[in-house]
Amino acid sequence: MRVLKDISALNSWRRNQEEMALIPTMGALHAGHMGLVSKAQQAVDTVLVSIFVNPTQFNQSSDLDSYPQDLQSDLTQLDEAGIAAVYVPDYEQLYPHGYRFKIAENELSKRFCGAHRPGHFEGVMTVVMKLLQLVRPEYVYFGEKDYQQLQLIKAMVKDFFMPTQVIACPTVRDKDGLALSSRNQRLSDAELNLAPMLYQTLIDDGDLESKKSRLQSLGFQIDYLEVYDDRLMAAVYLGDVRLIDNVPVAGKFI
Ligand code: AMP
Repeated sequence: MRVLKDISALNSWRRNQEEMALIPTMGALHAGHMGLVSKAQQAVDTVLVSIFVNPTQFNQSSDLDSYPQDLQSDLTQLDEAGIAAVYVPDYEQLYPHGYRFKIAENELSKRFCGAHRPGHFEGVMTVVMKLLQLVRPEYVYFGEKDYQQLQLIKAMVKDFFMPTQVIACPTVRDKDGLALSSRNQRLSDAELNLAPMLYQTLIDDGDLESKKSRLQSLGFQIDYLEVYDDRLMAAVYLGDVRLIDNVPVAGKFI
């Protein structure tokens, strides 16, 4: 597996590839990320994974500081999975002028997670735009776990006529239903026991108000629980860890 650390190494590797897929990640890889990896590998010969904890999408420096990182374990998992190459840039490479230019969107990015994390999606869209411009992949893979992010990236790619196809992958969950997330590592044992109740509450019967009161009585602090498209989407806090999830609702609340 090639570990590409700078743009010139990336460019010379890319010149020798034909059709390829990119999987952007922030590392601390788990089975959710590896689900994207195996789906991409089934469809495309060459898969590049990027690992970059993107500071511009963190609206709280404490969240950035405590974001889990384990590059060695990430590289081992990707090597064992048979990934062709990993791109691990640093901040100066991706932001040669600092955060001077950014991608902004005026509708969906202001709602749900965007309403609670100002600037978050600008950071996400900006770094994804940079990675797509650098790598120019035929395909880019994103998880439905981050449903709002997925919809924004799809819209951005279409709006800027980018020649990359966005592929969505279903959310990978623990057997108790908890959506896998790098942030789960920060939950205490007690919080980890409680966390699957978020998914359980989303899929159980009941209207939005009864789901909200159930979550609150269990000890979750709710940022939002709302329907968008055909999805019931939620963001909650357990202690200081923010969890998001979404499930299809097939017109139930609409
Ligand atoms: P992150 O490292 O959190 O930025 O995630 C990188 C990619 O993996 C994003 O497209 C996420 O939506 C996706 N992802 C993260 N967790 C999961 C999961 N549990 N199931 C499916 N995709 C996931």
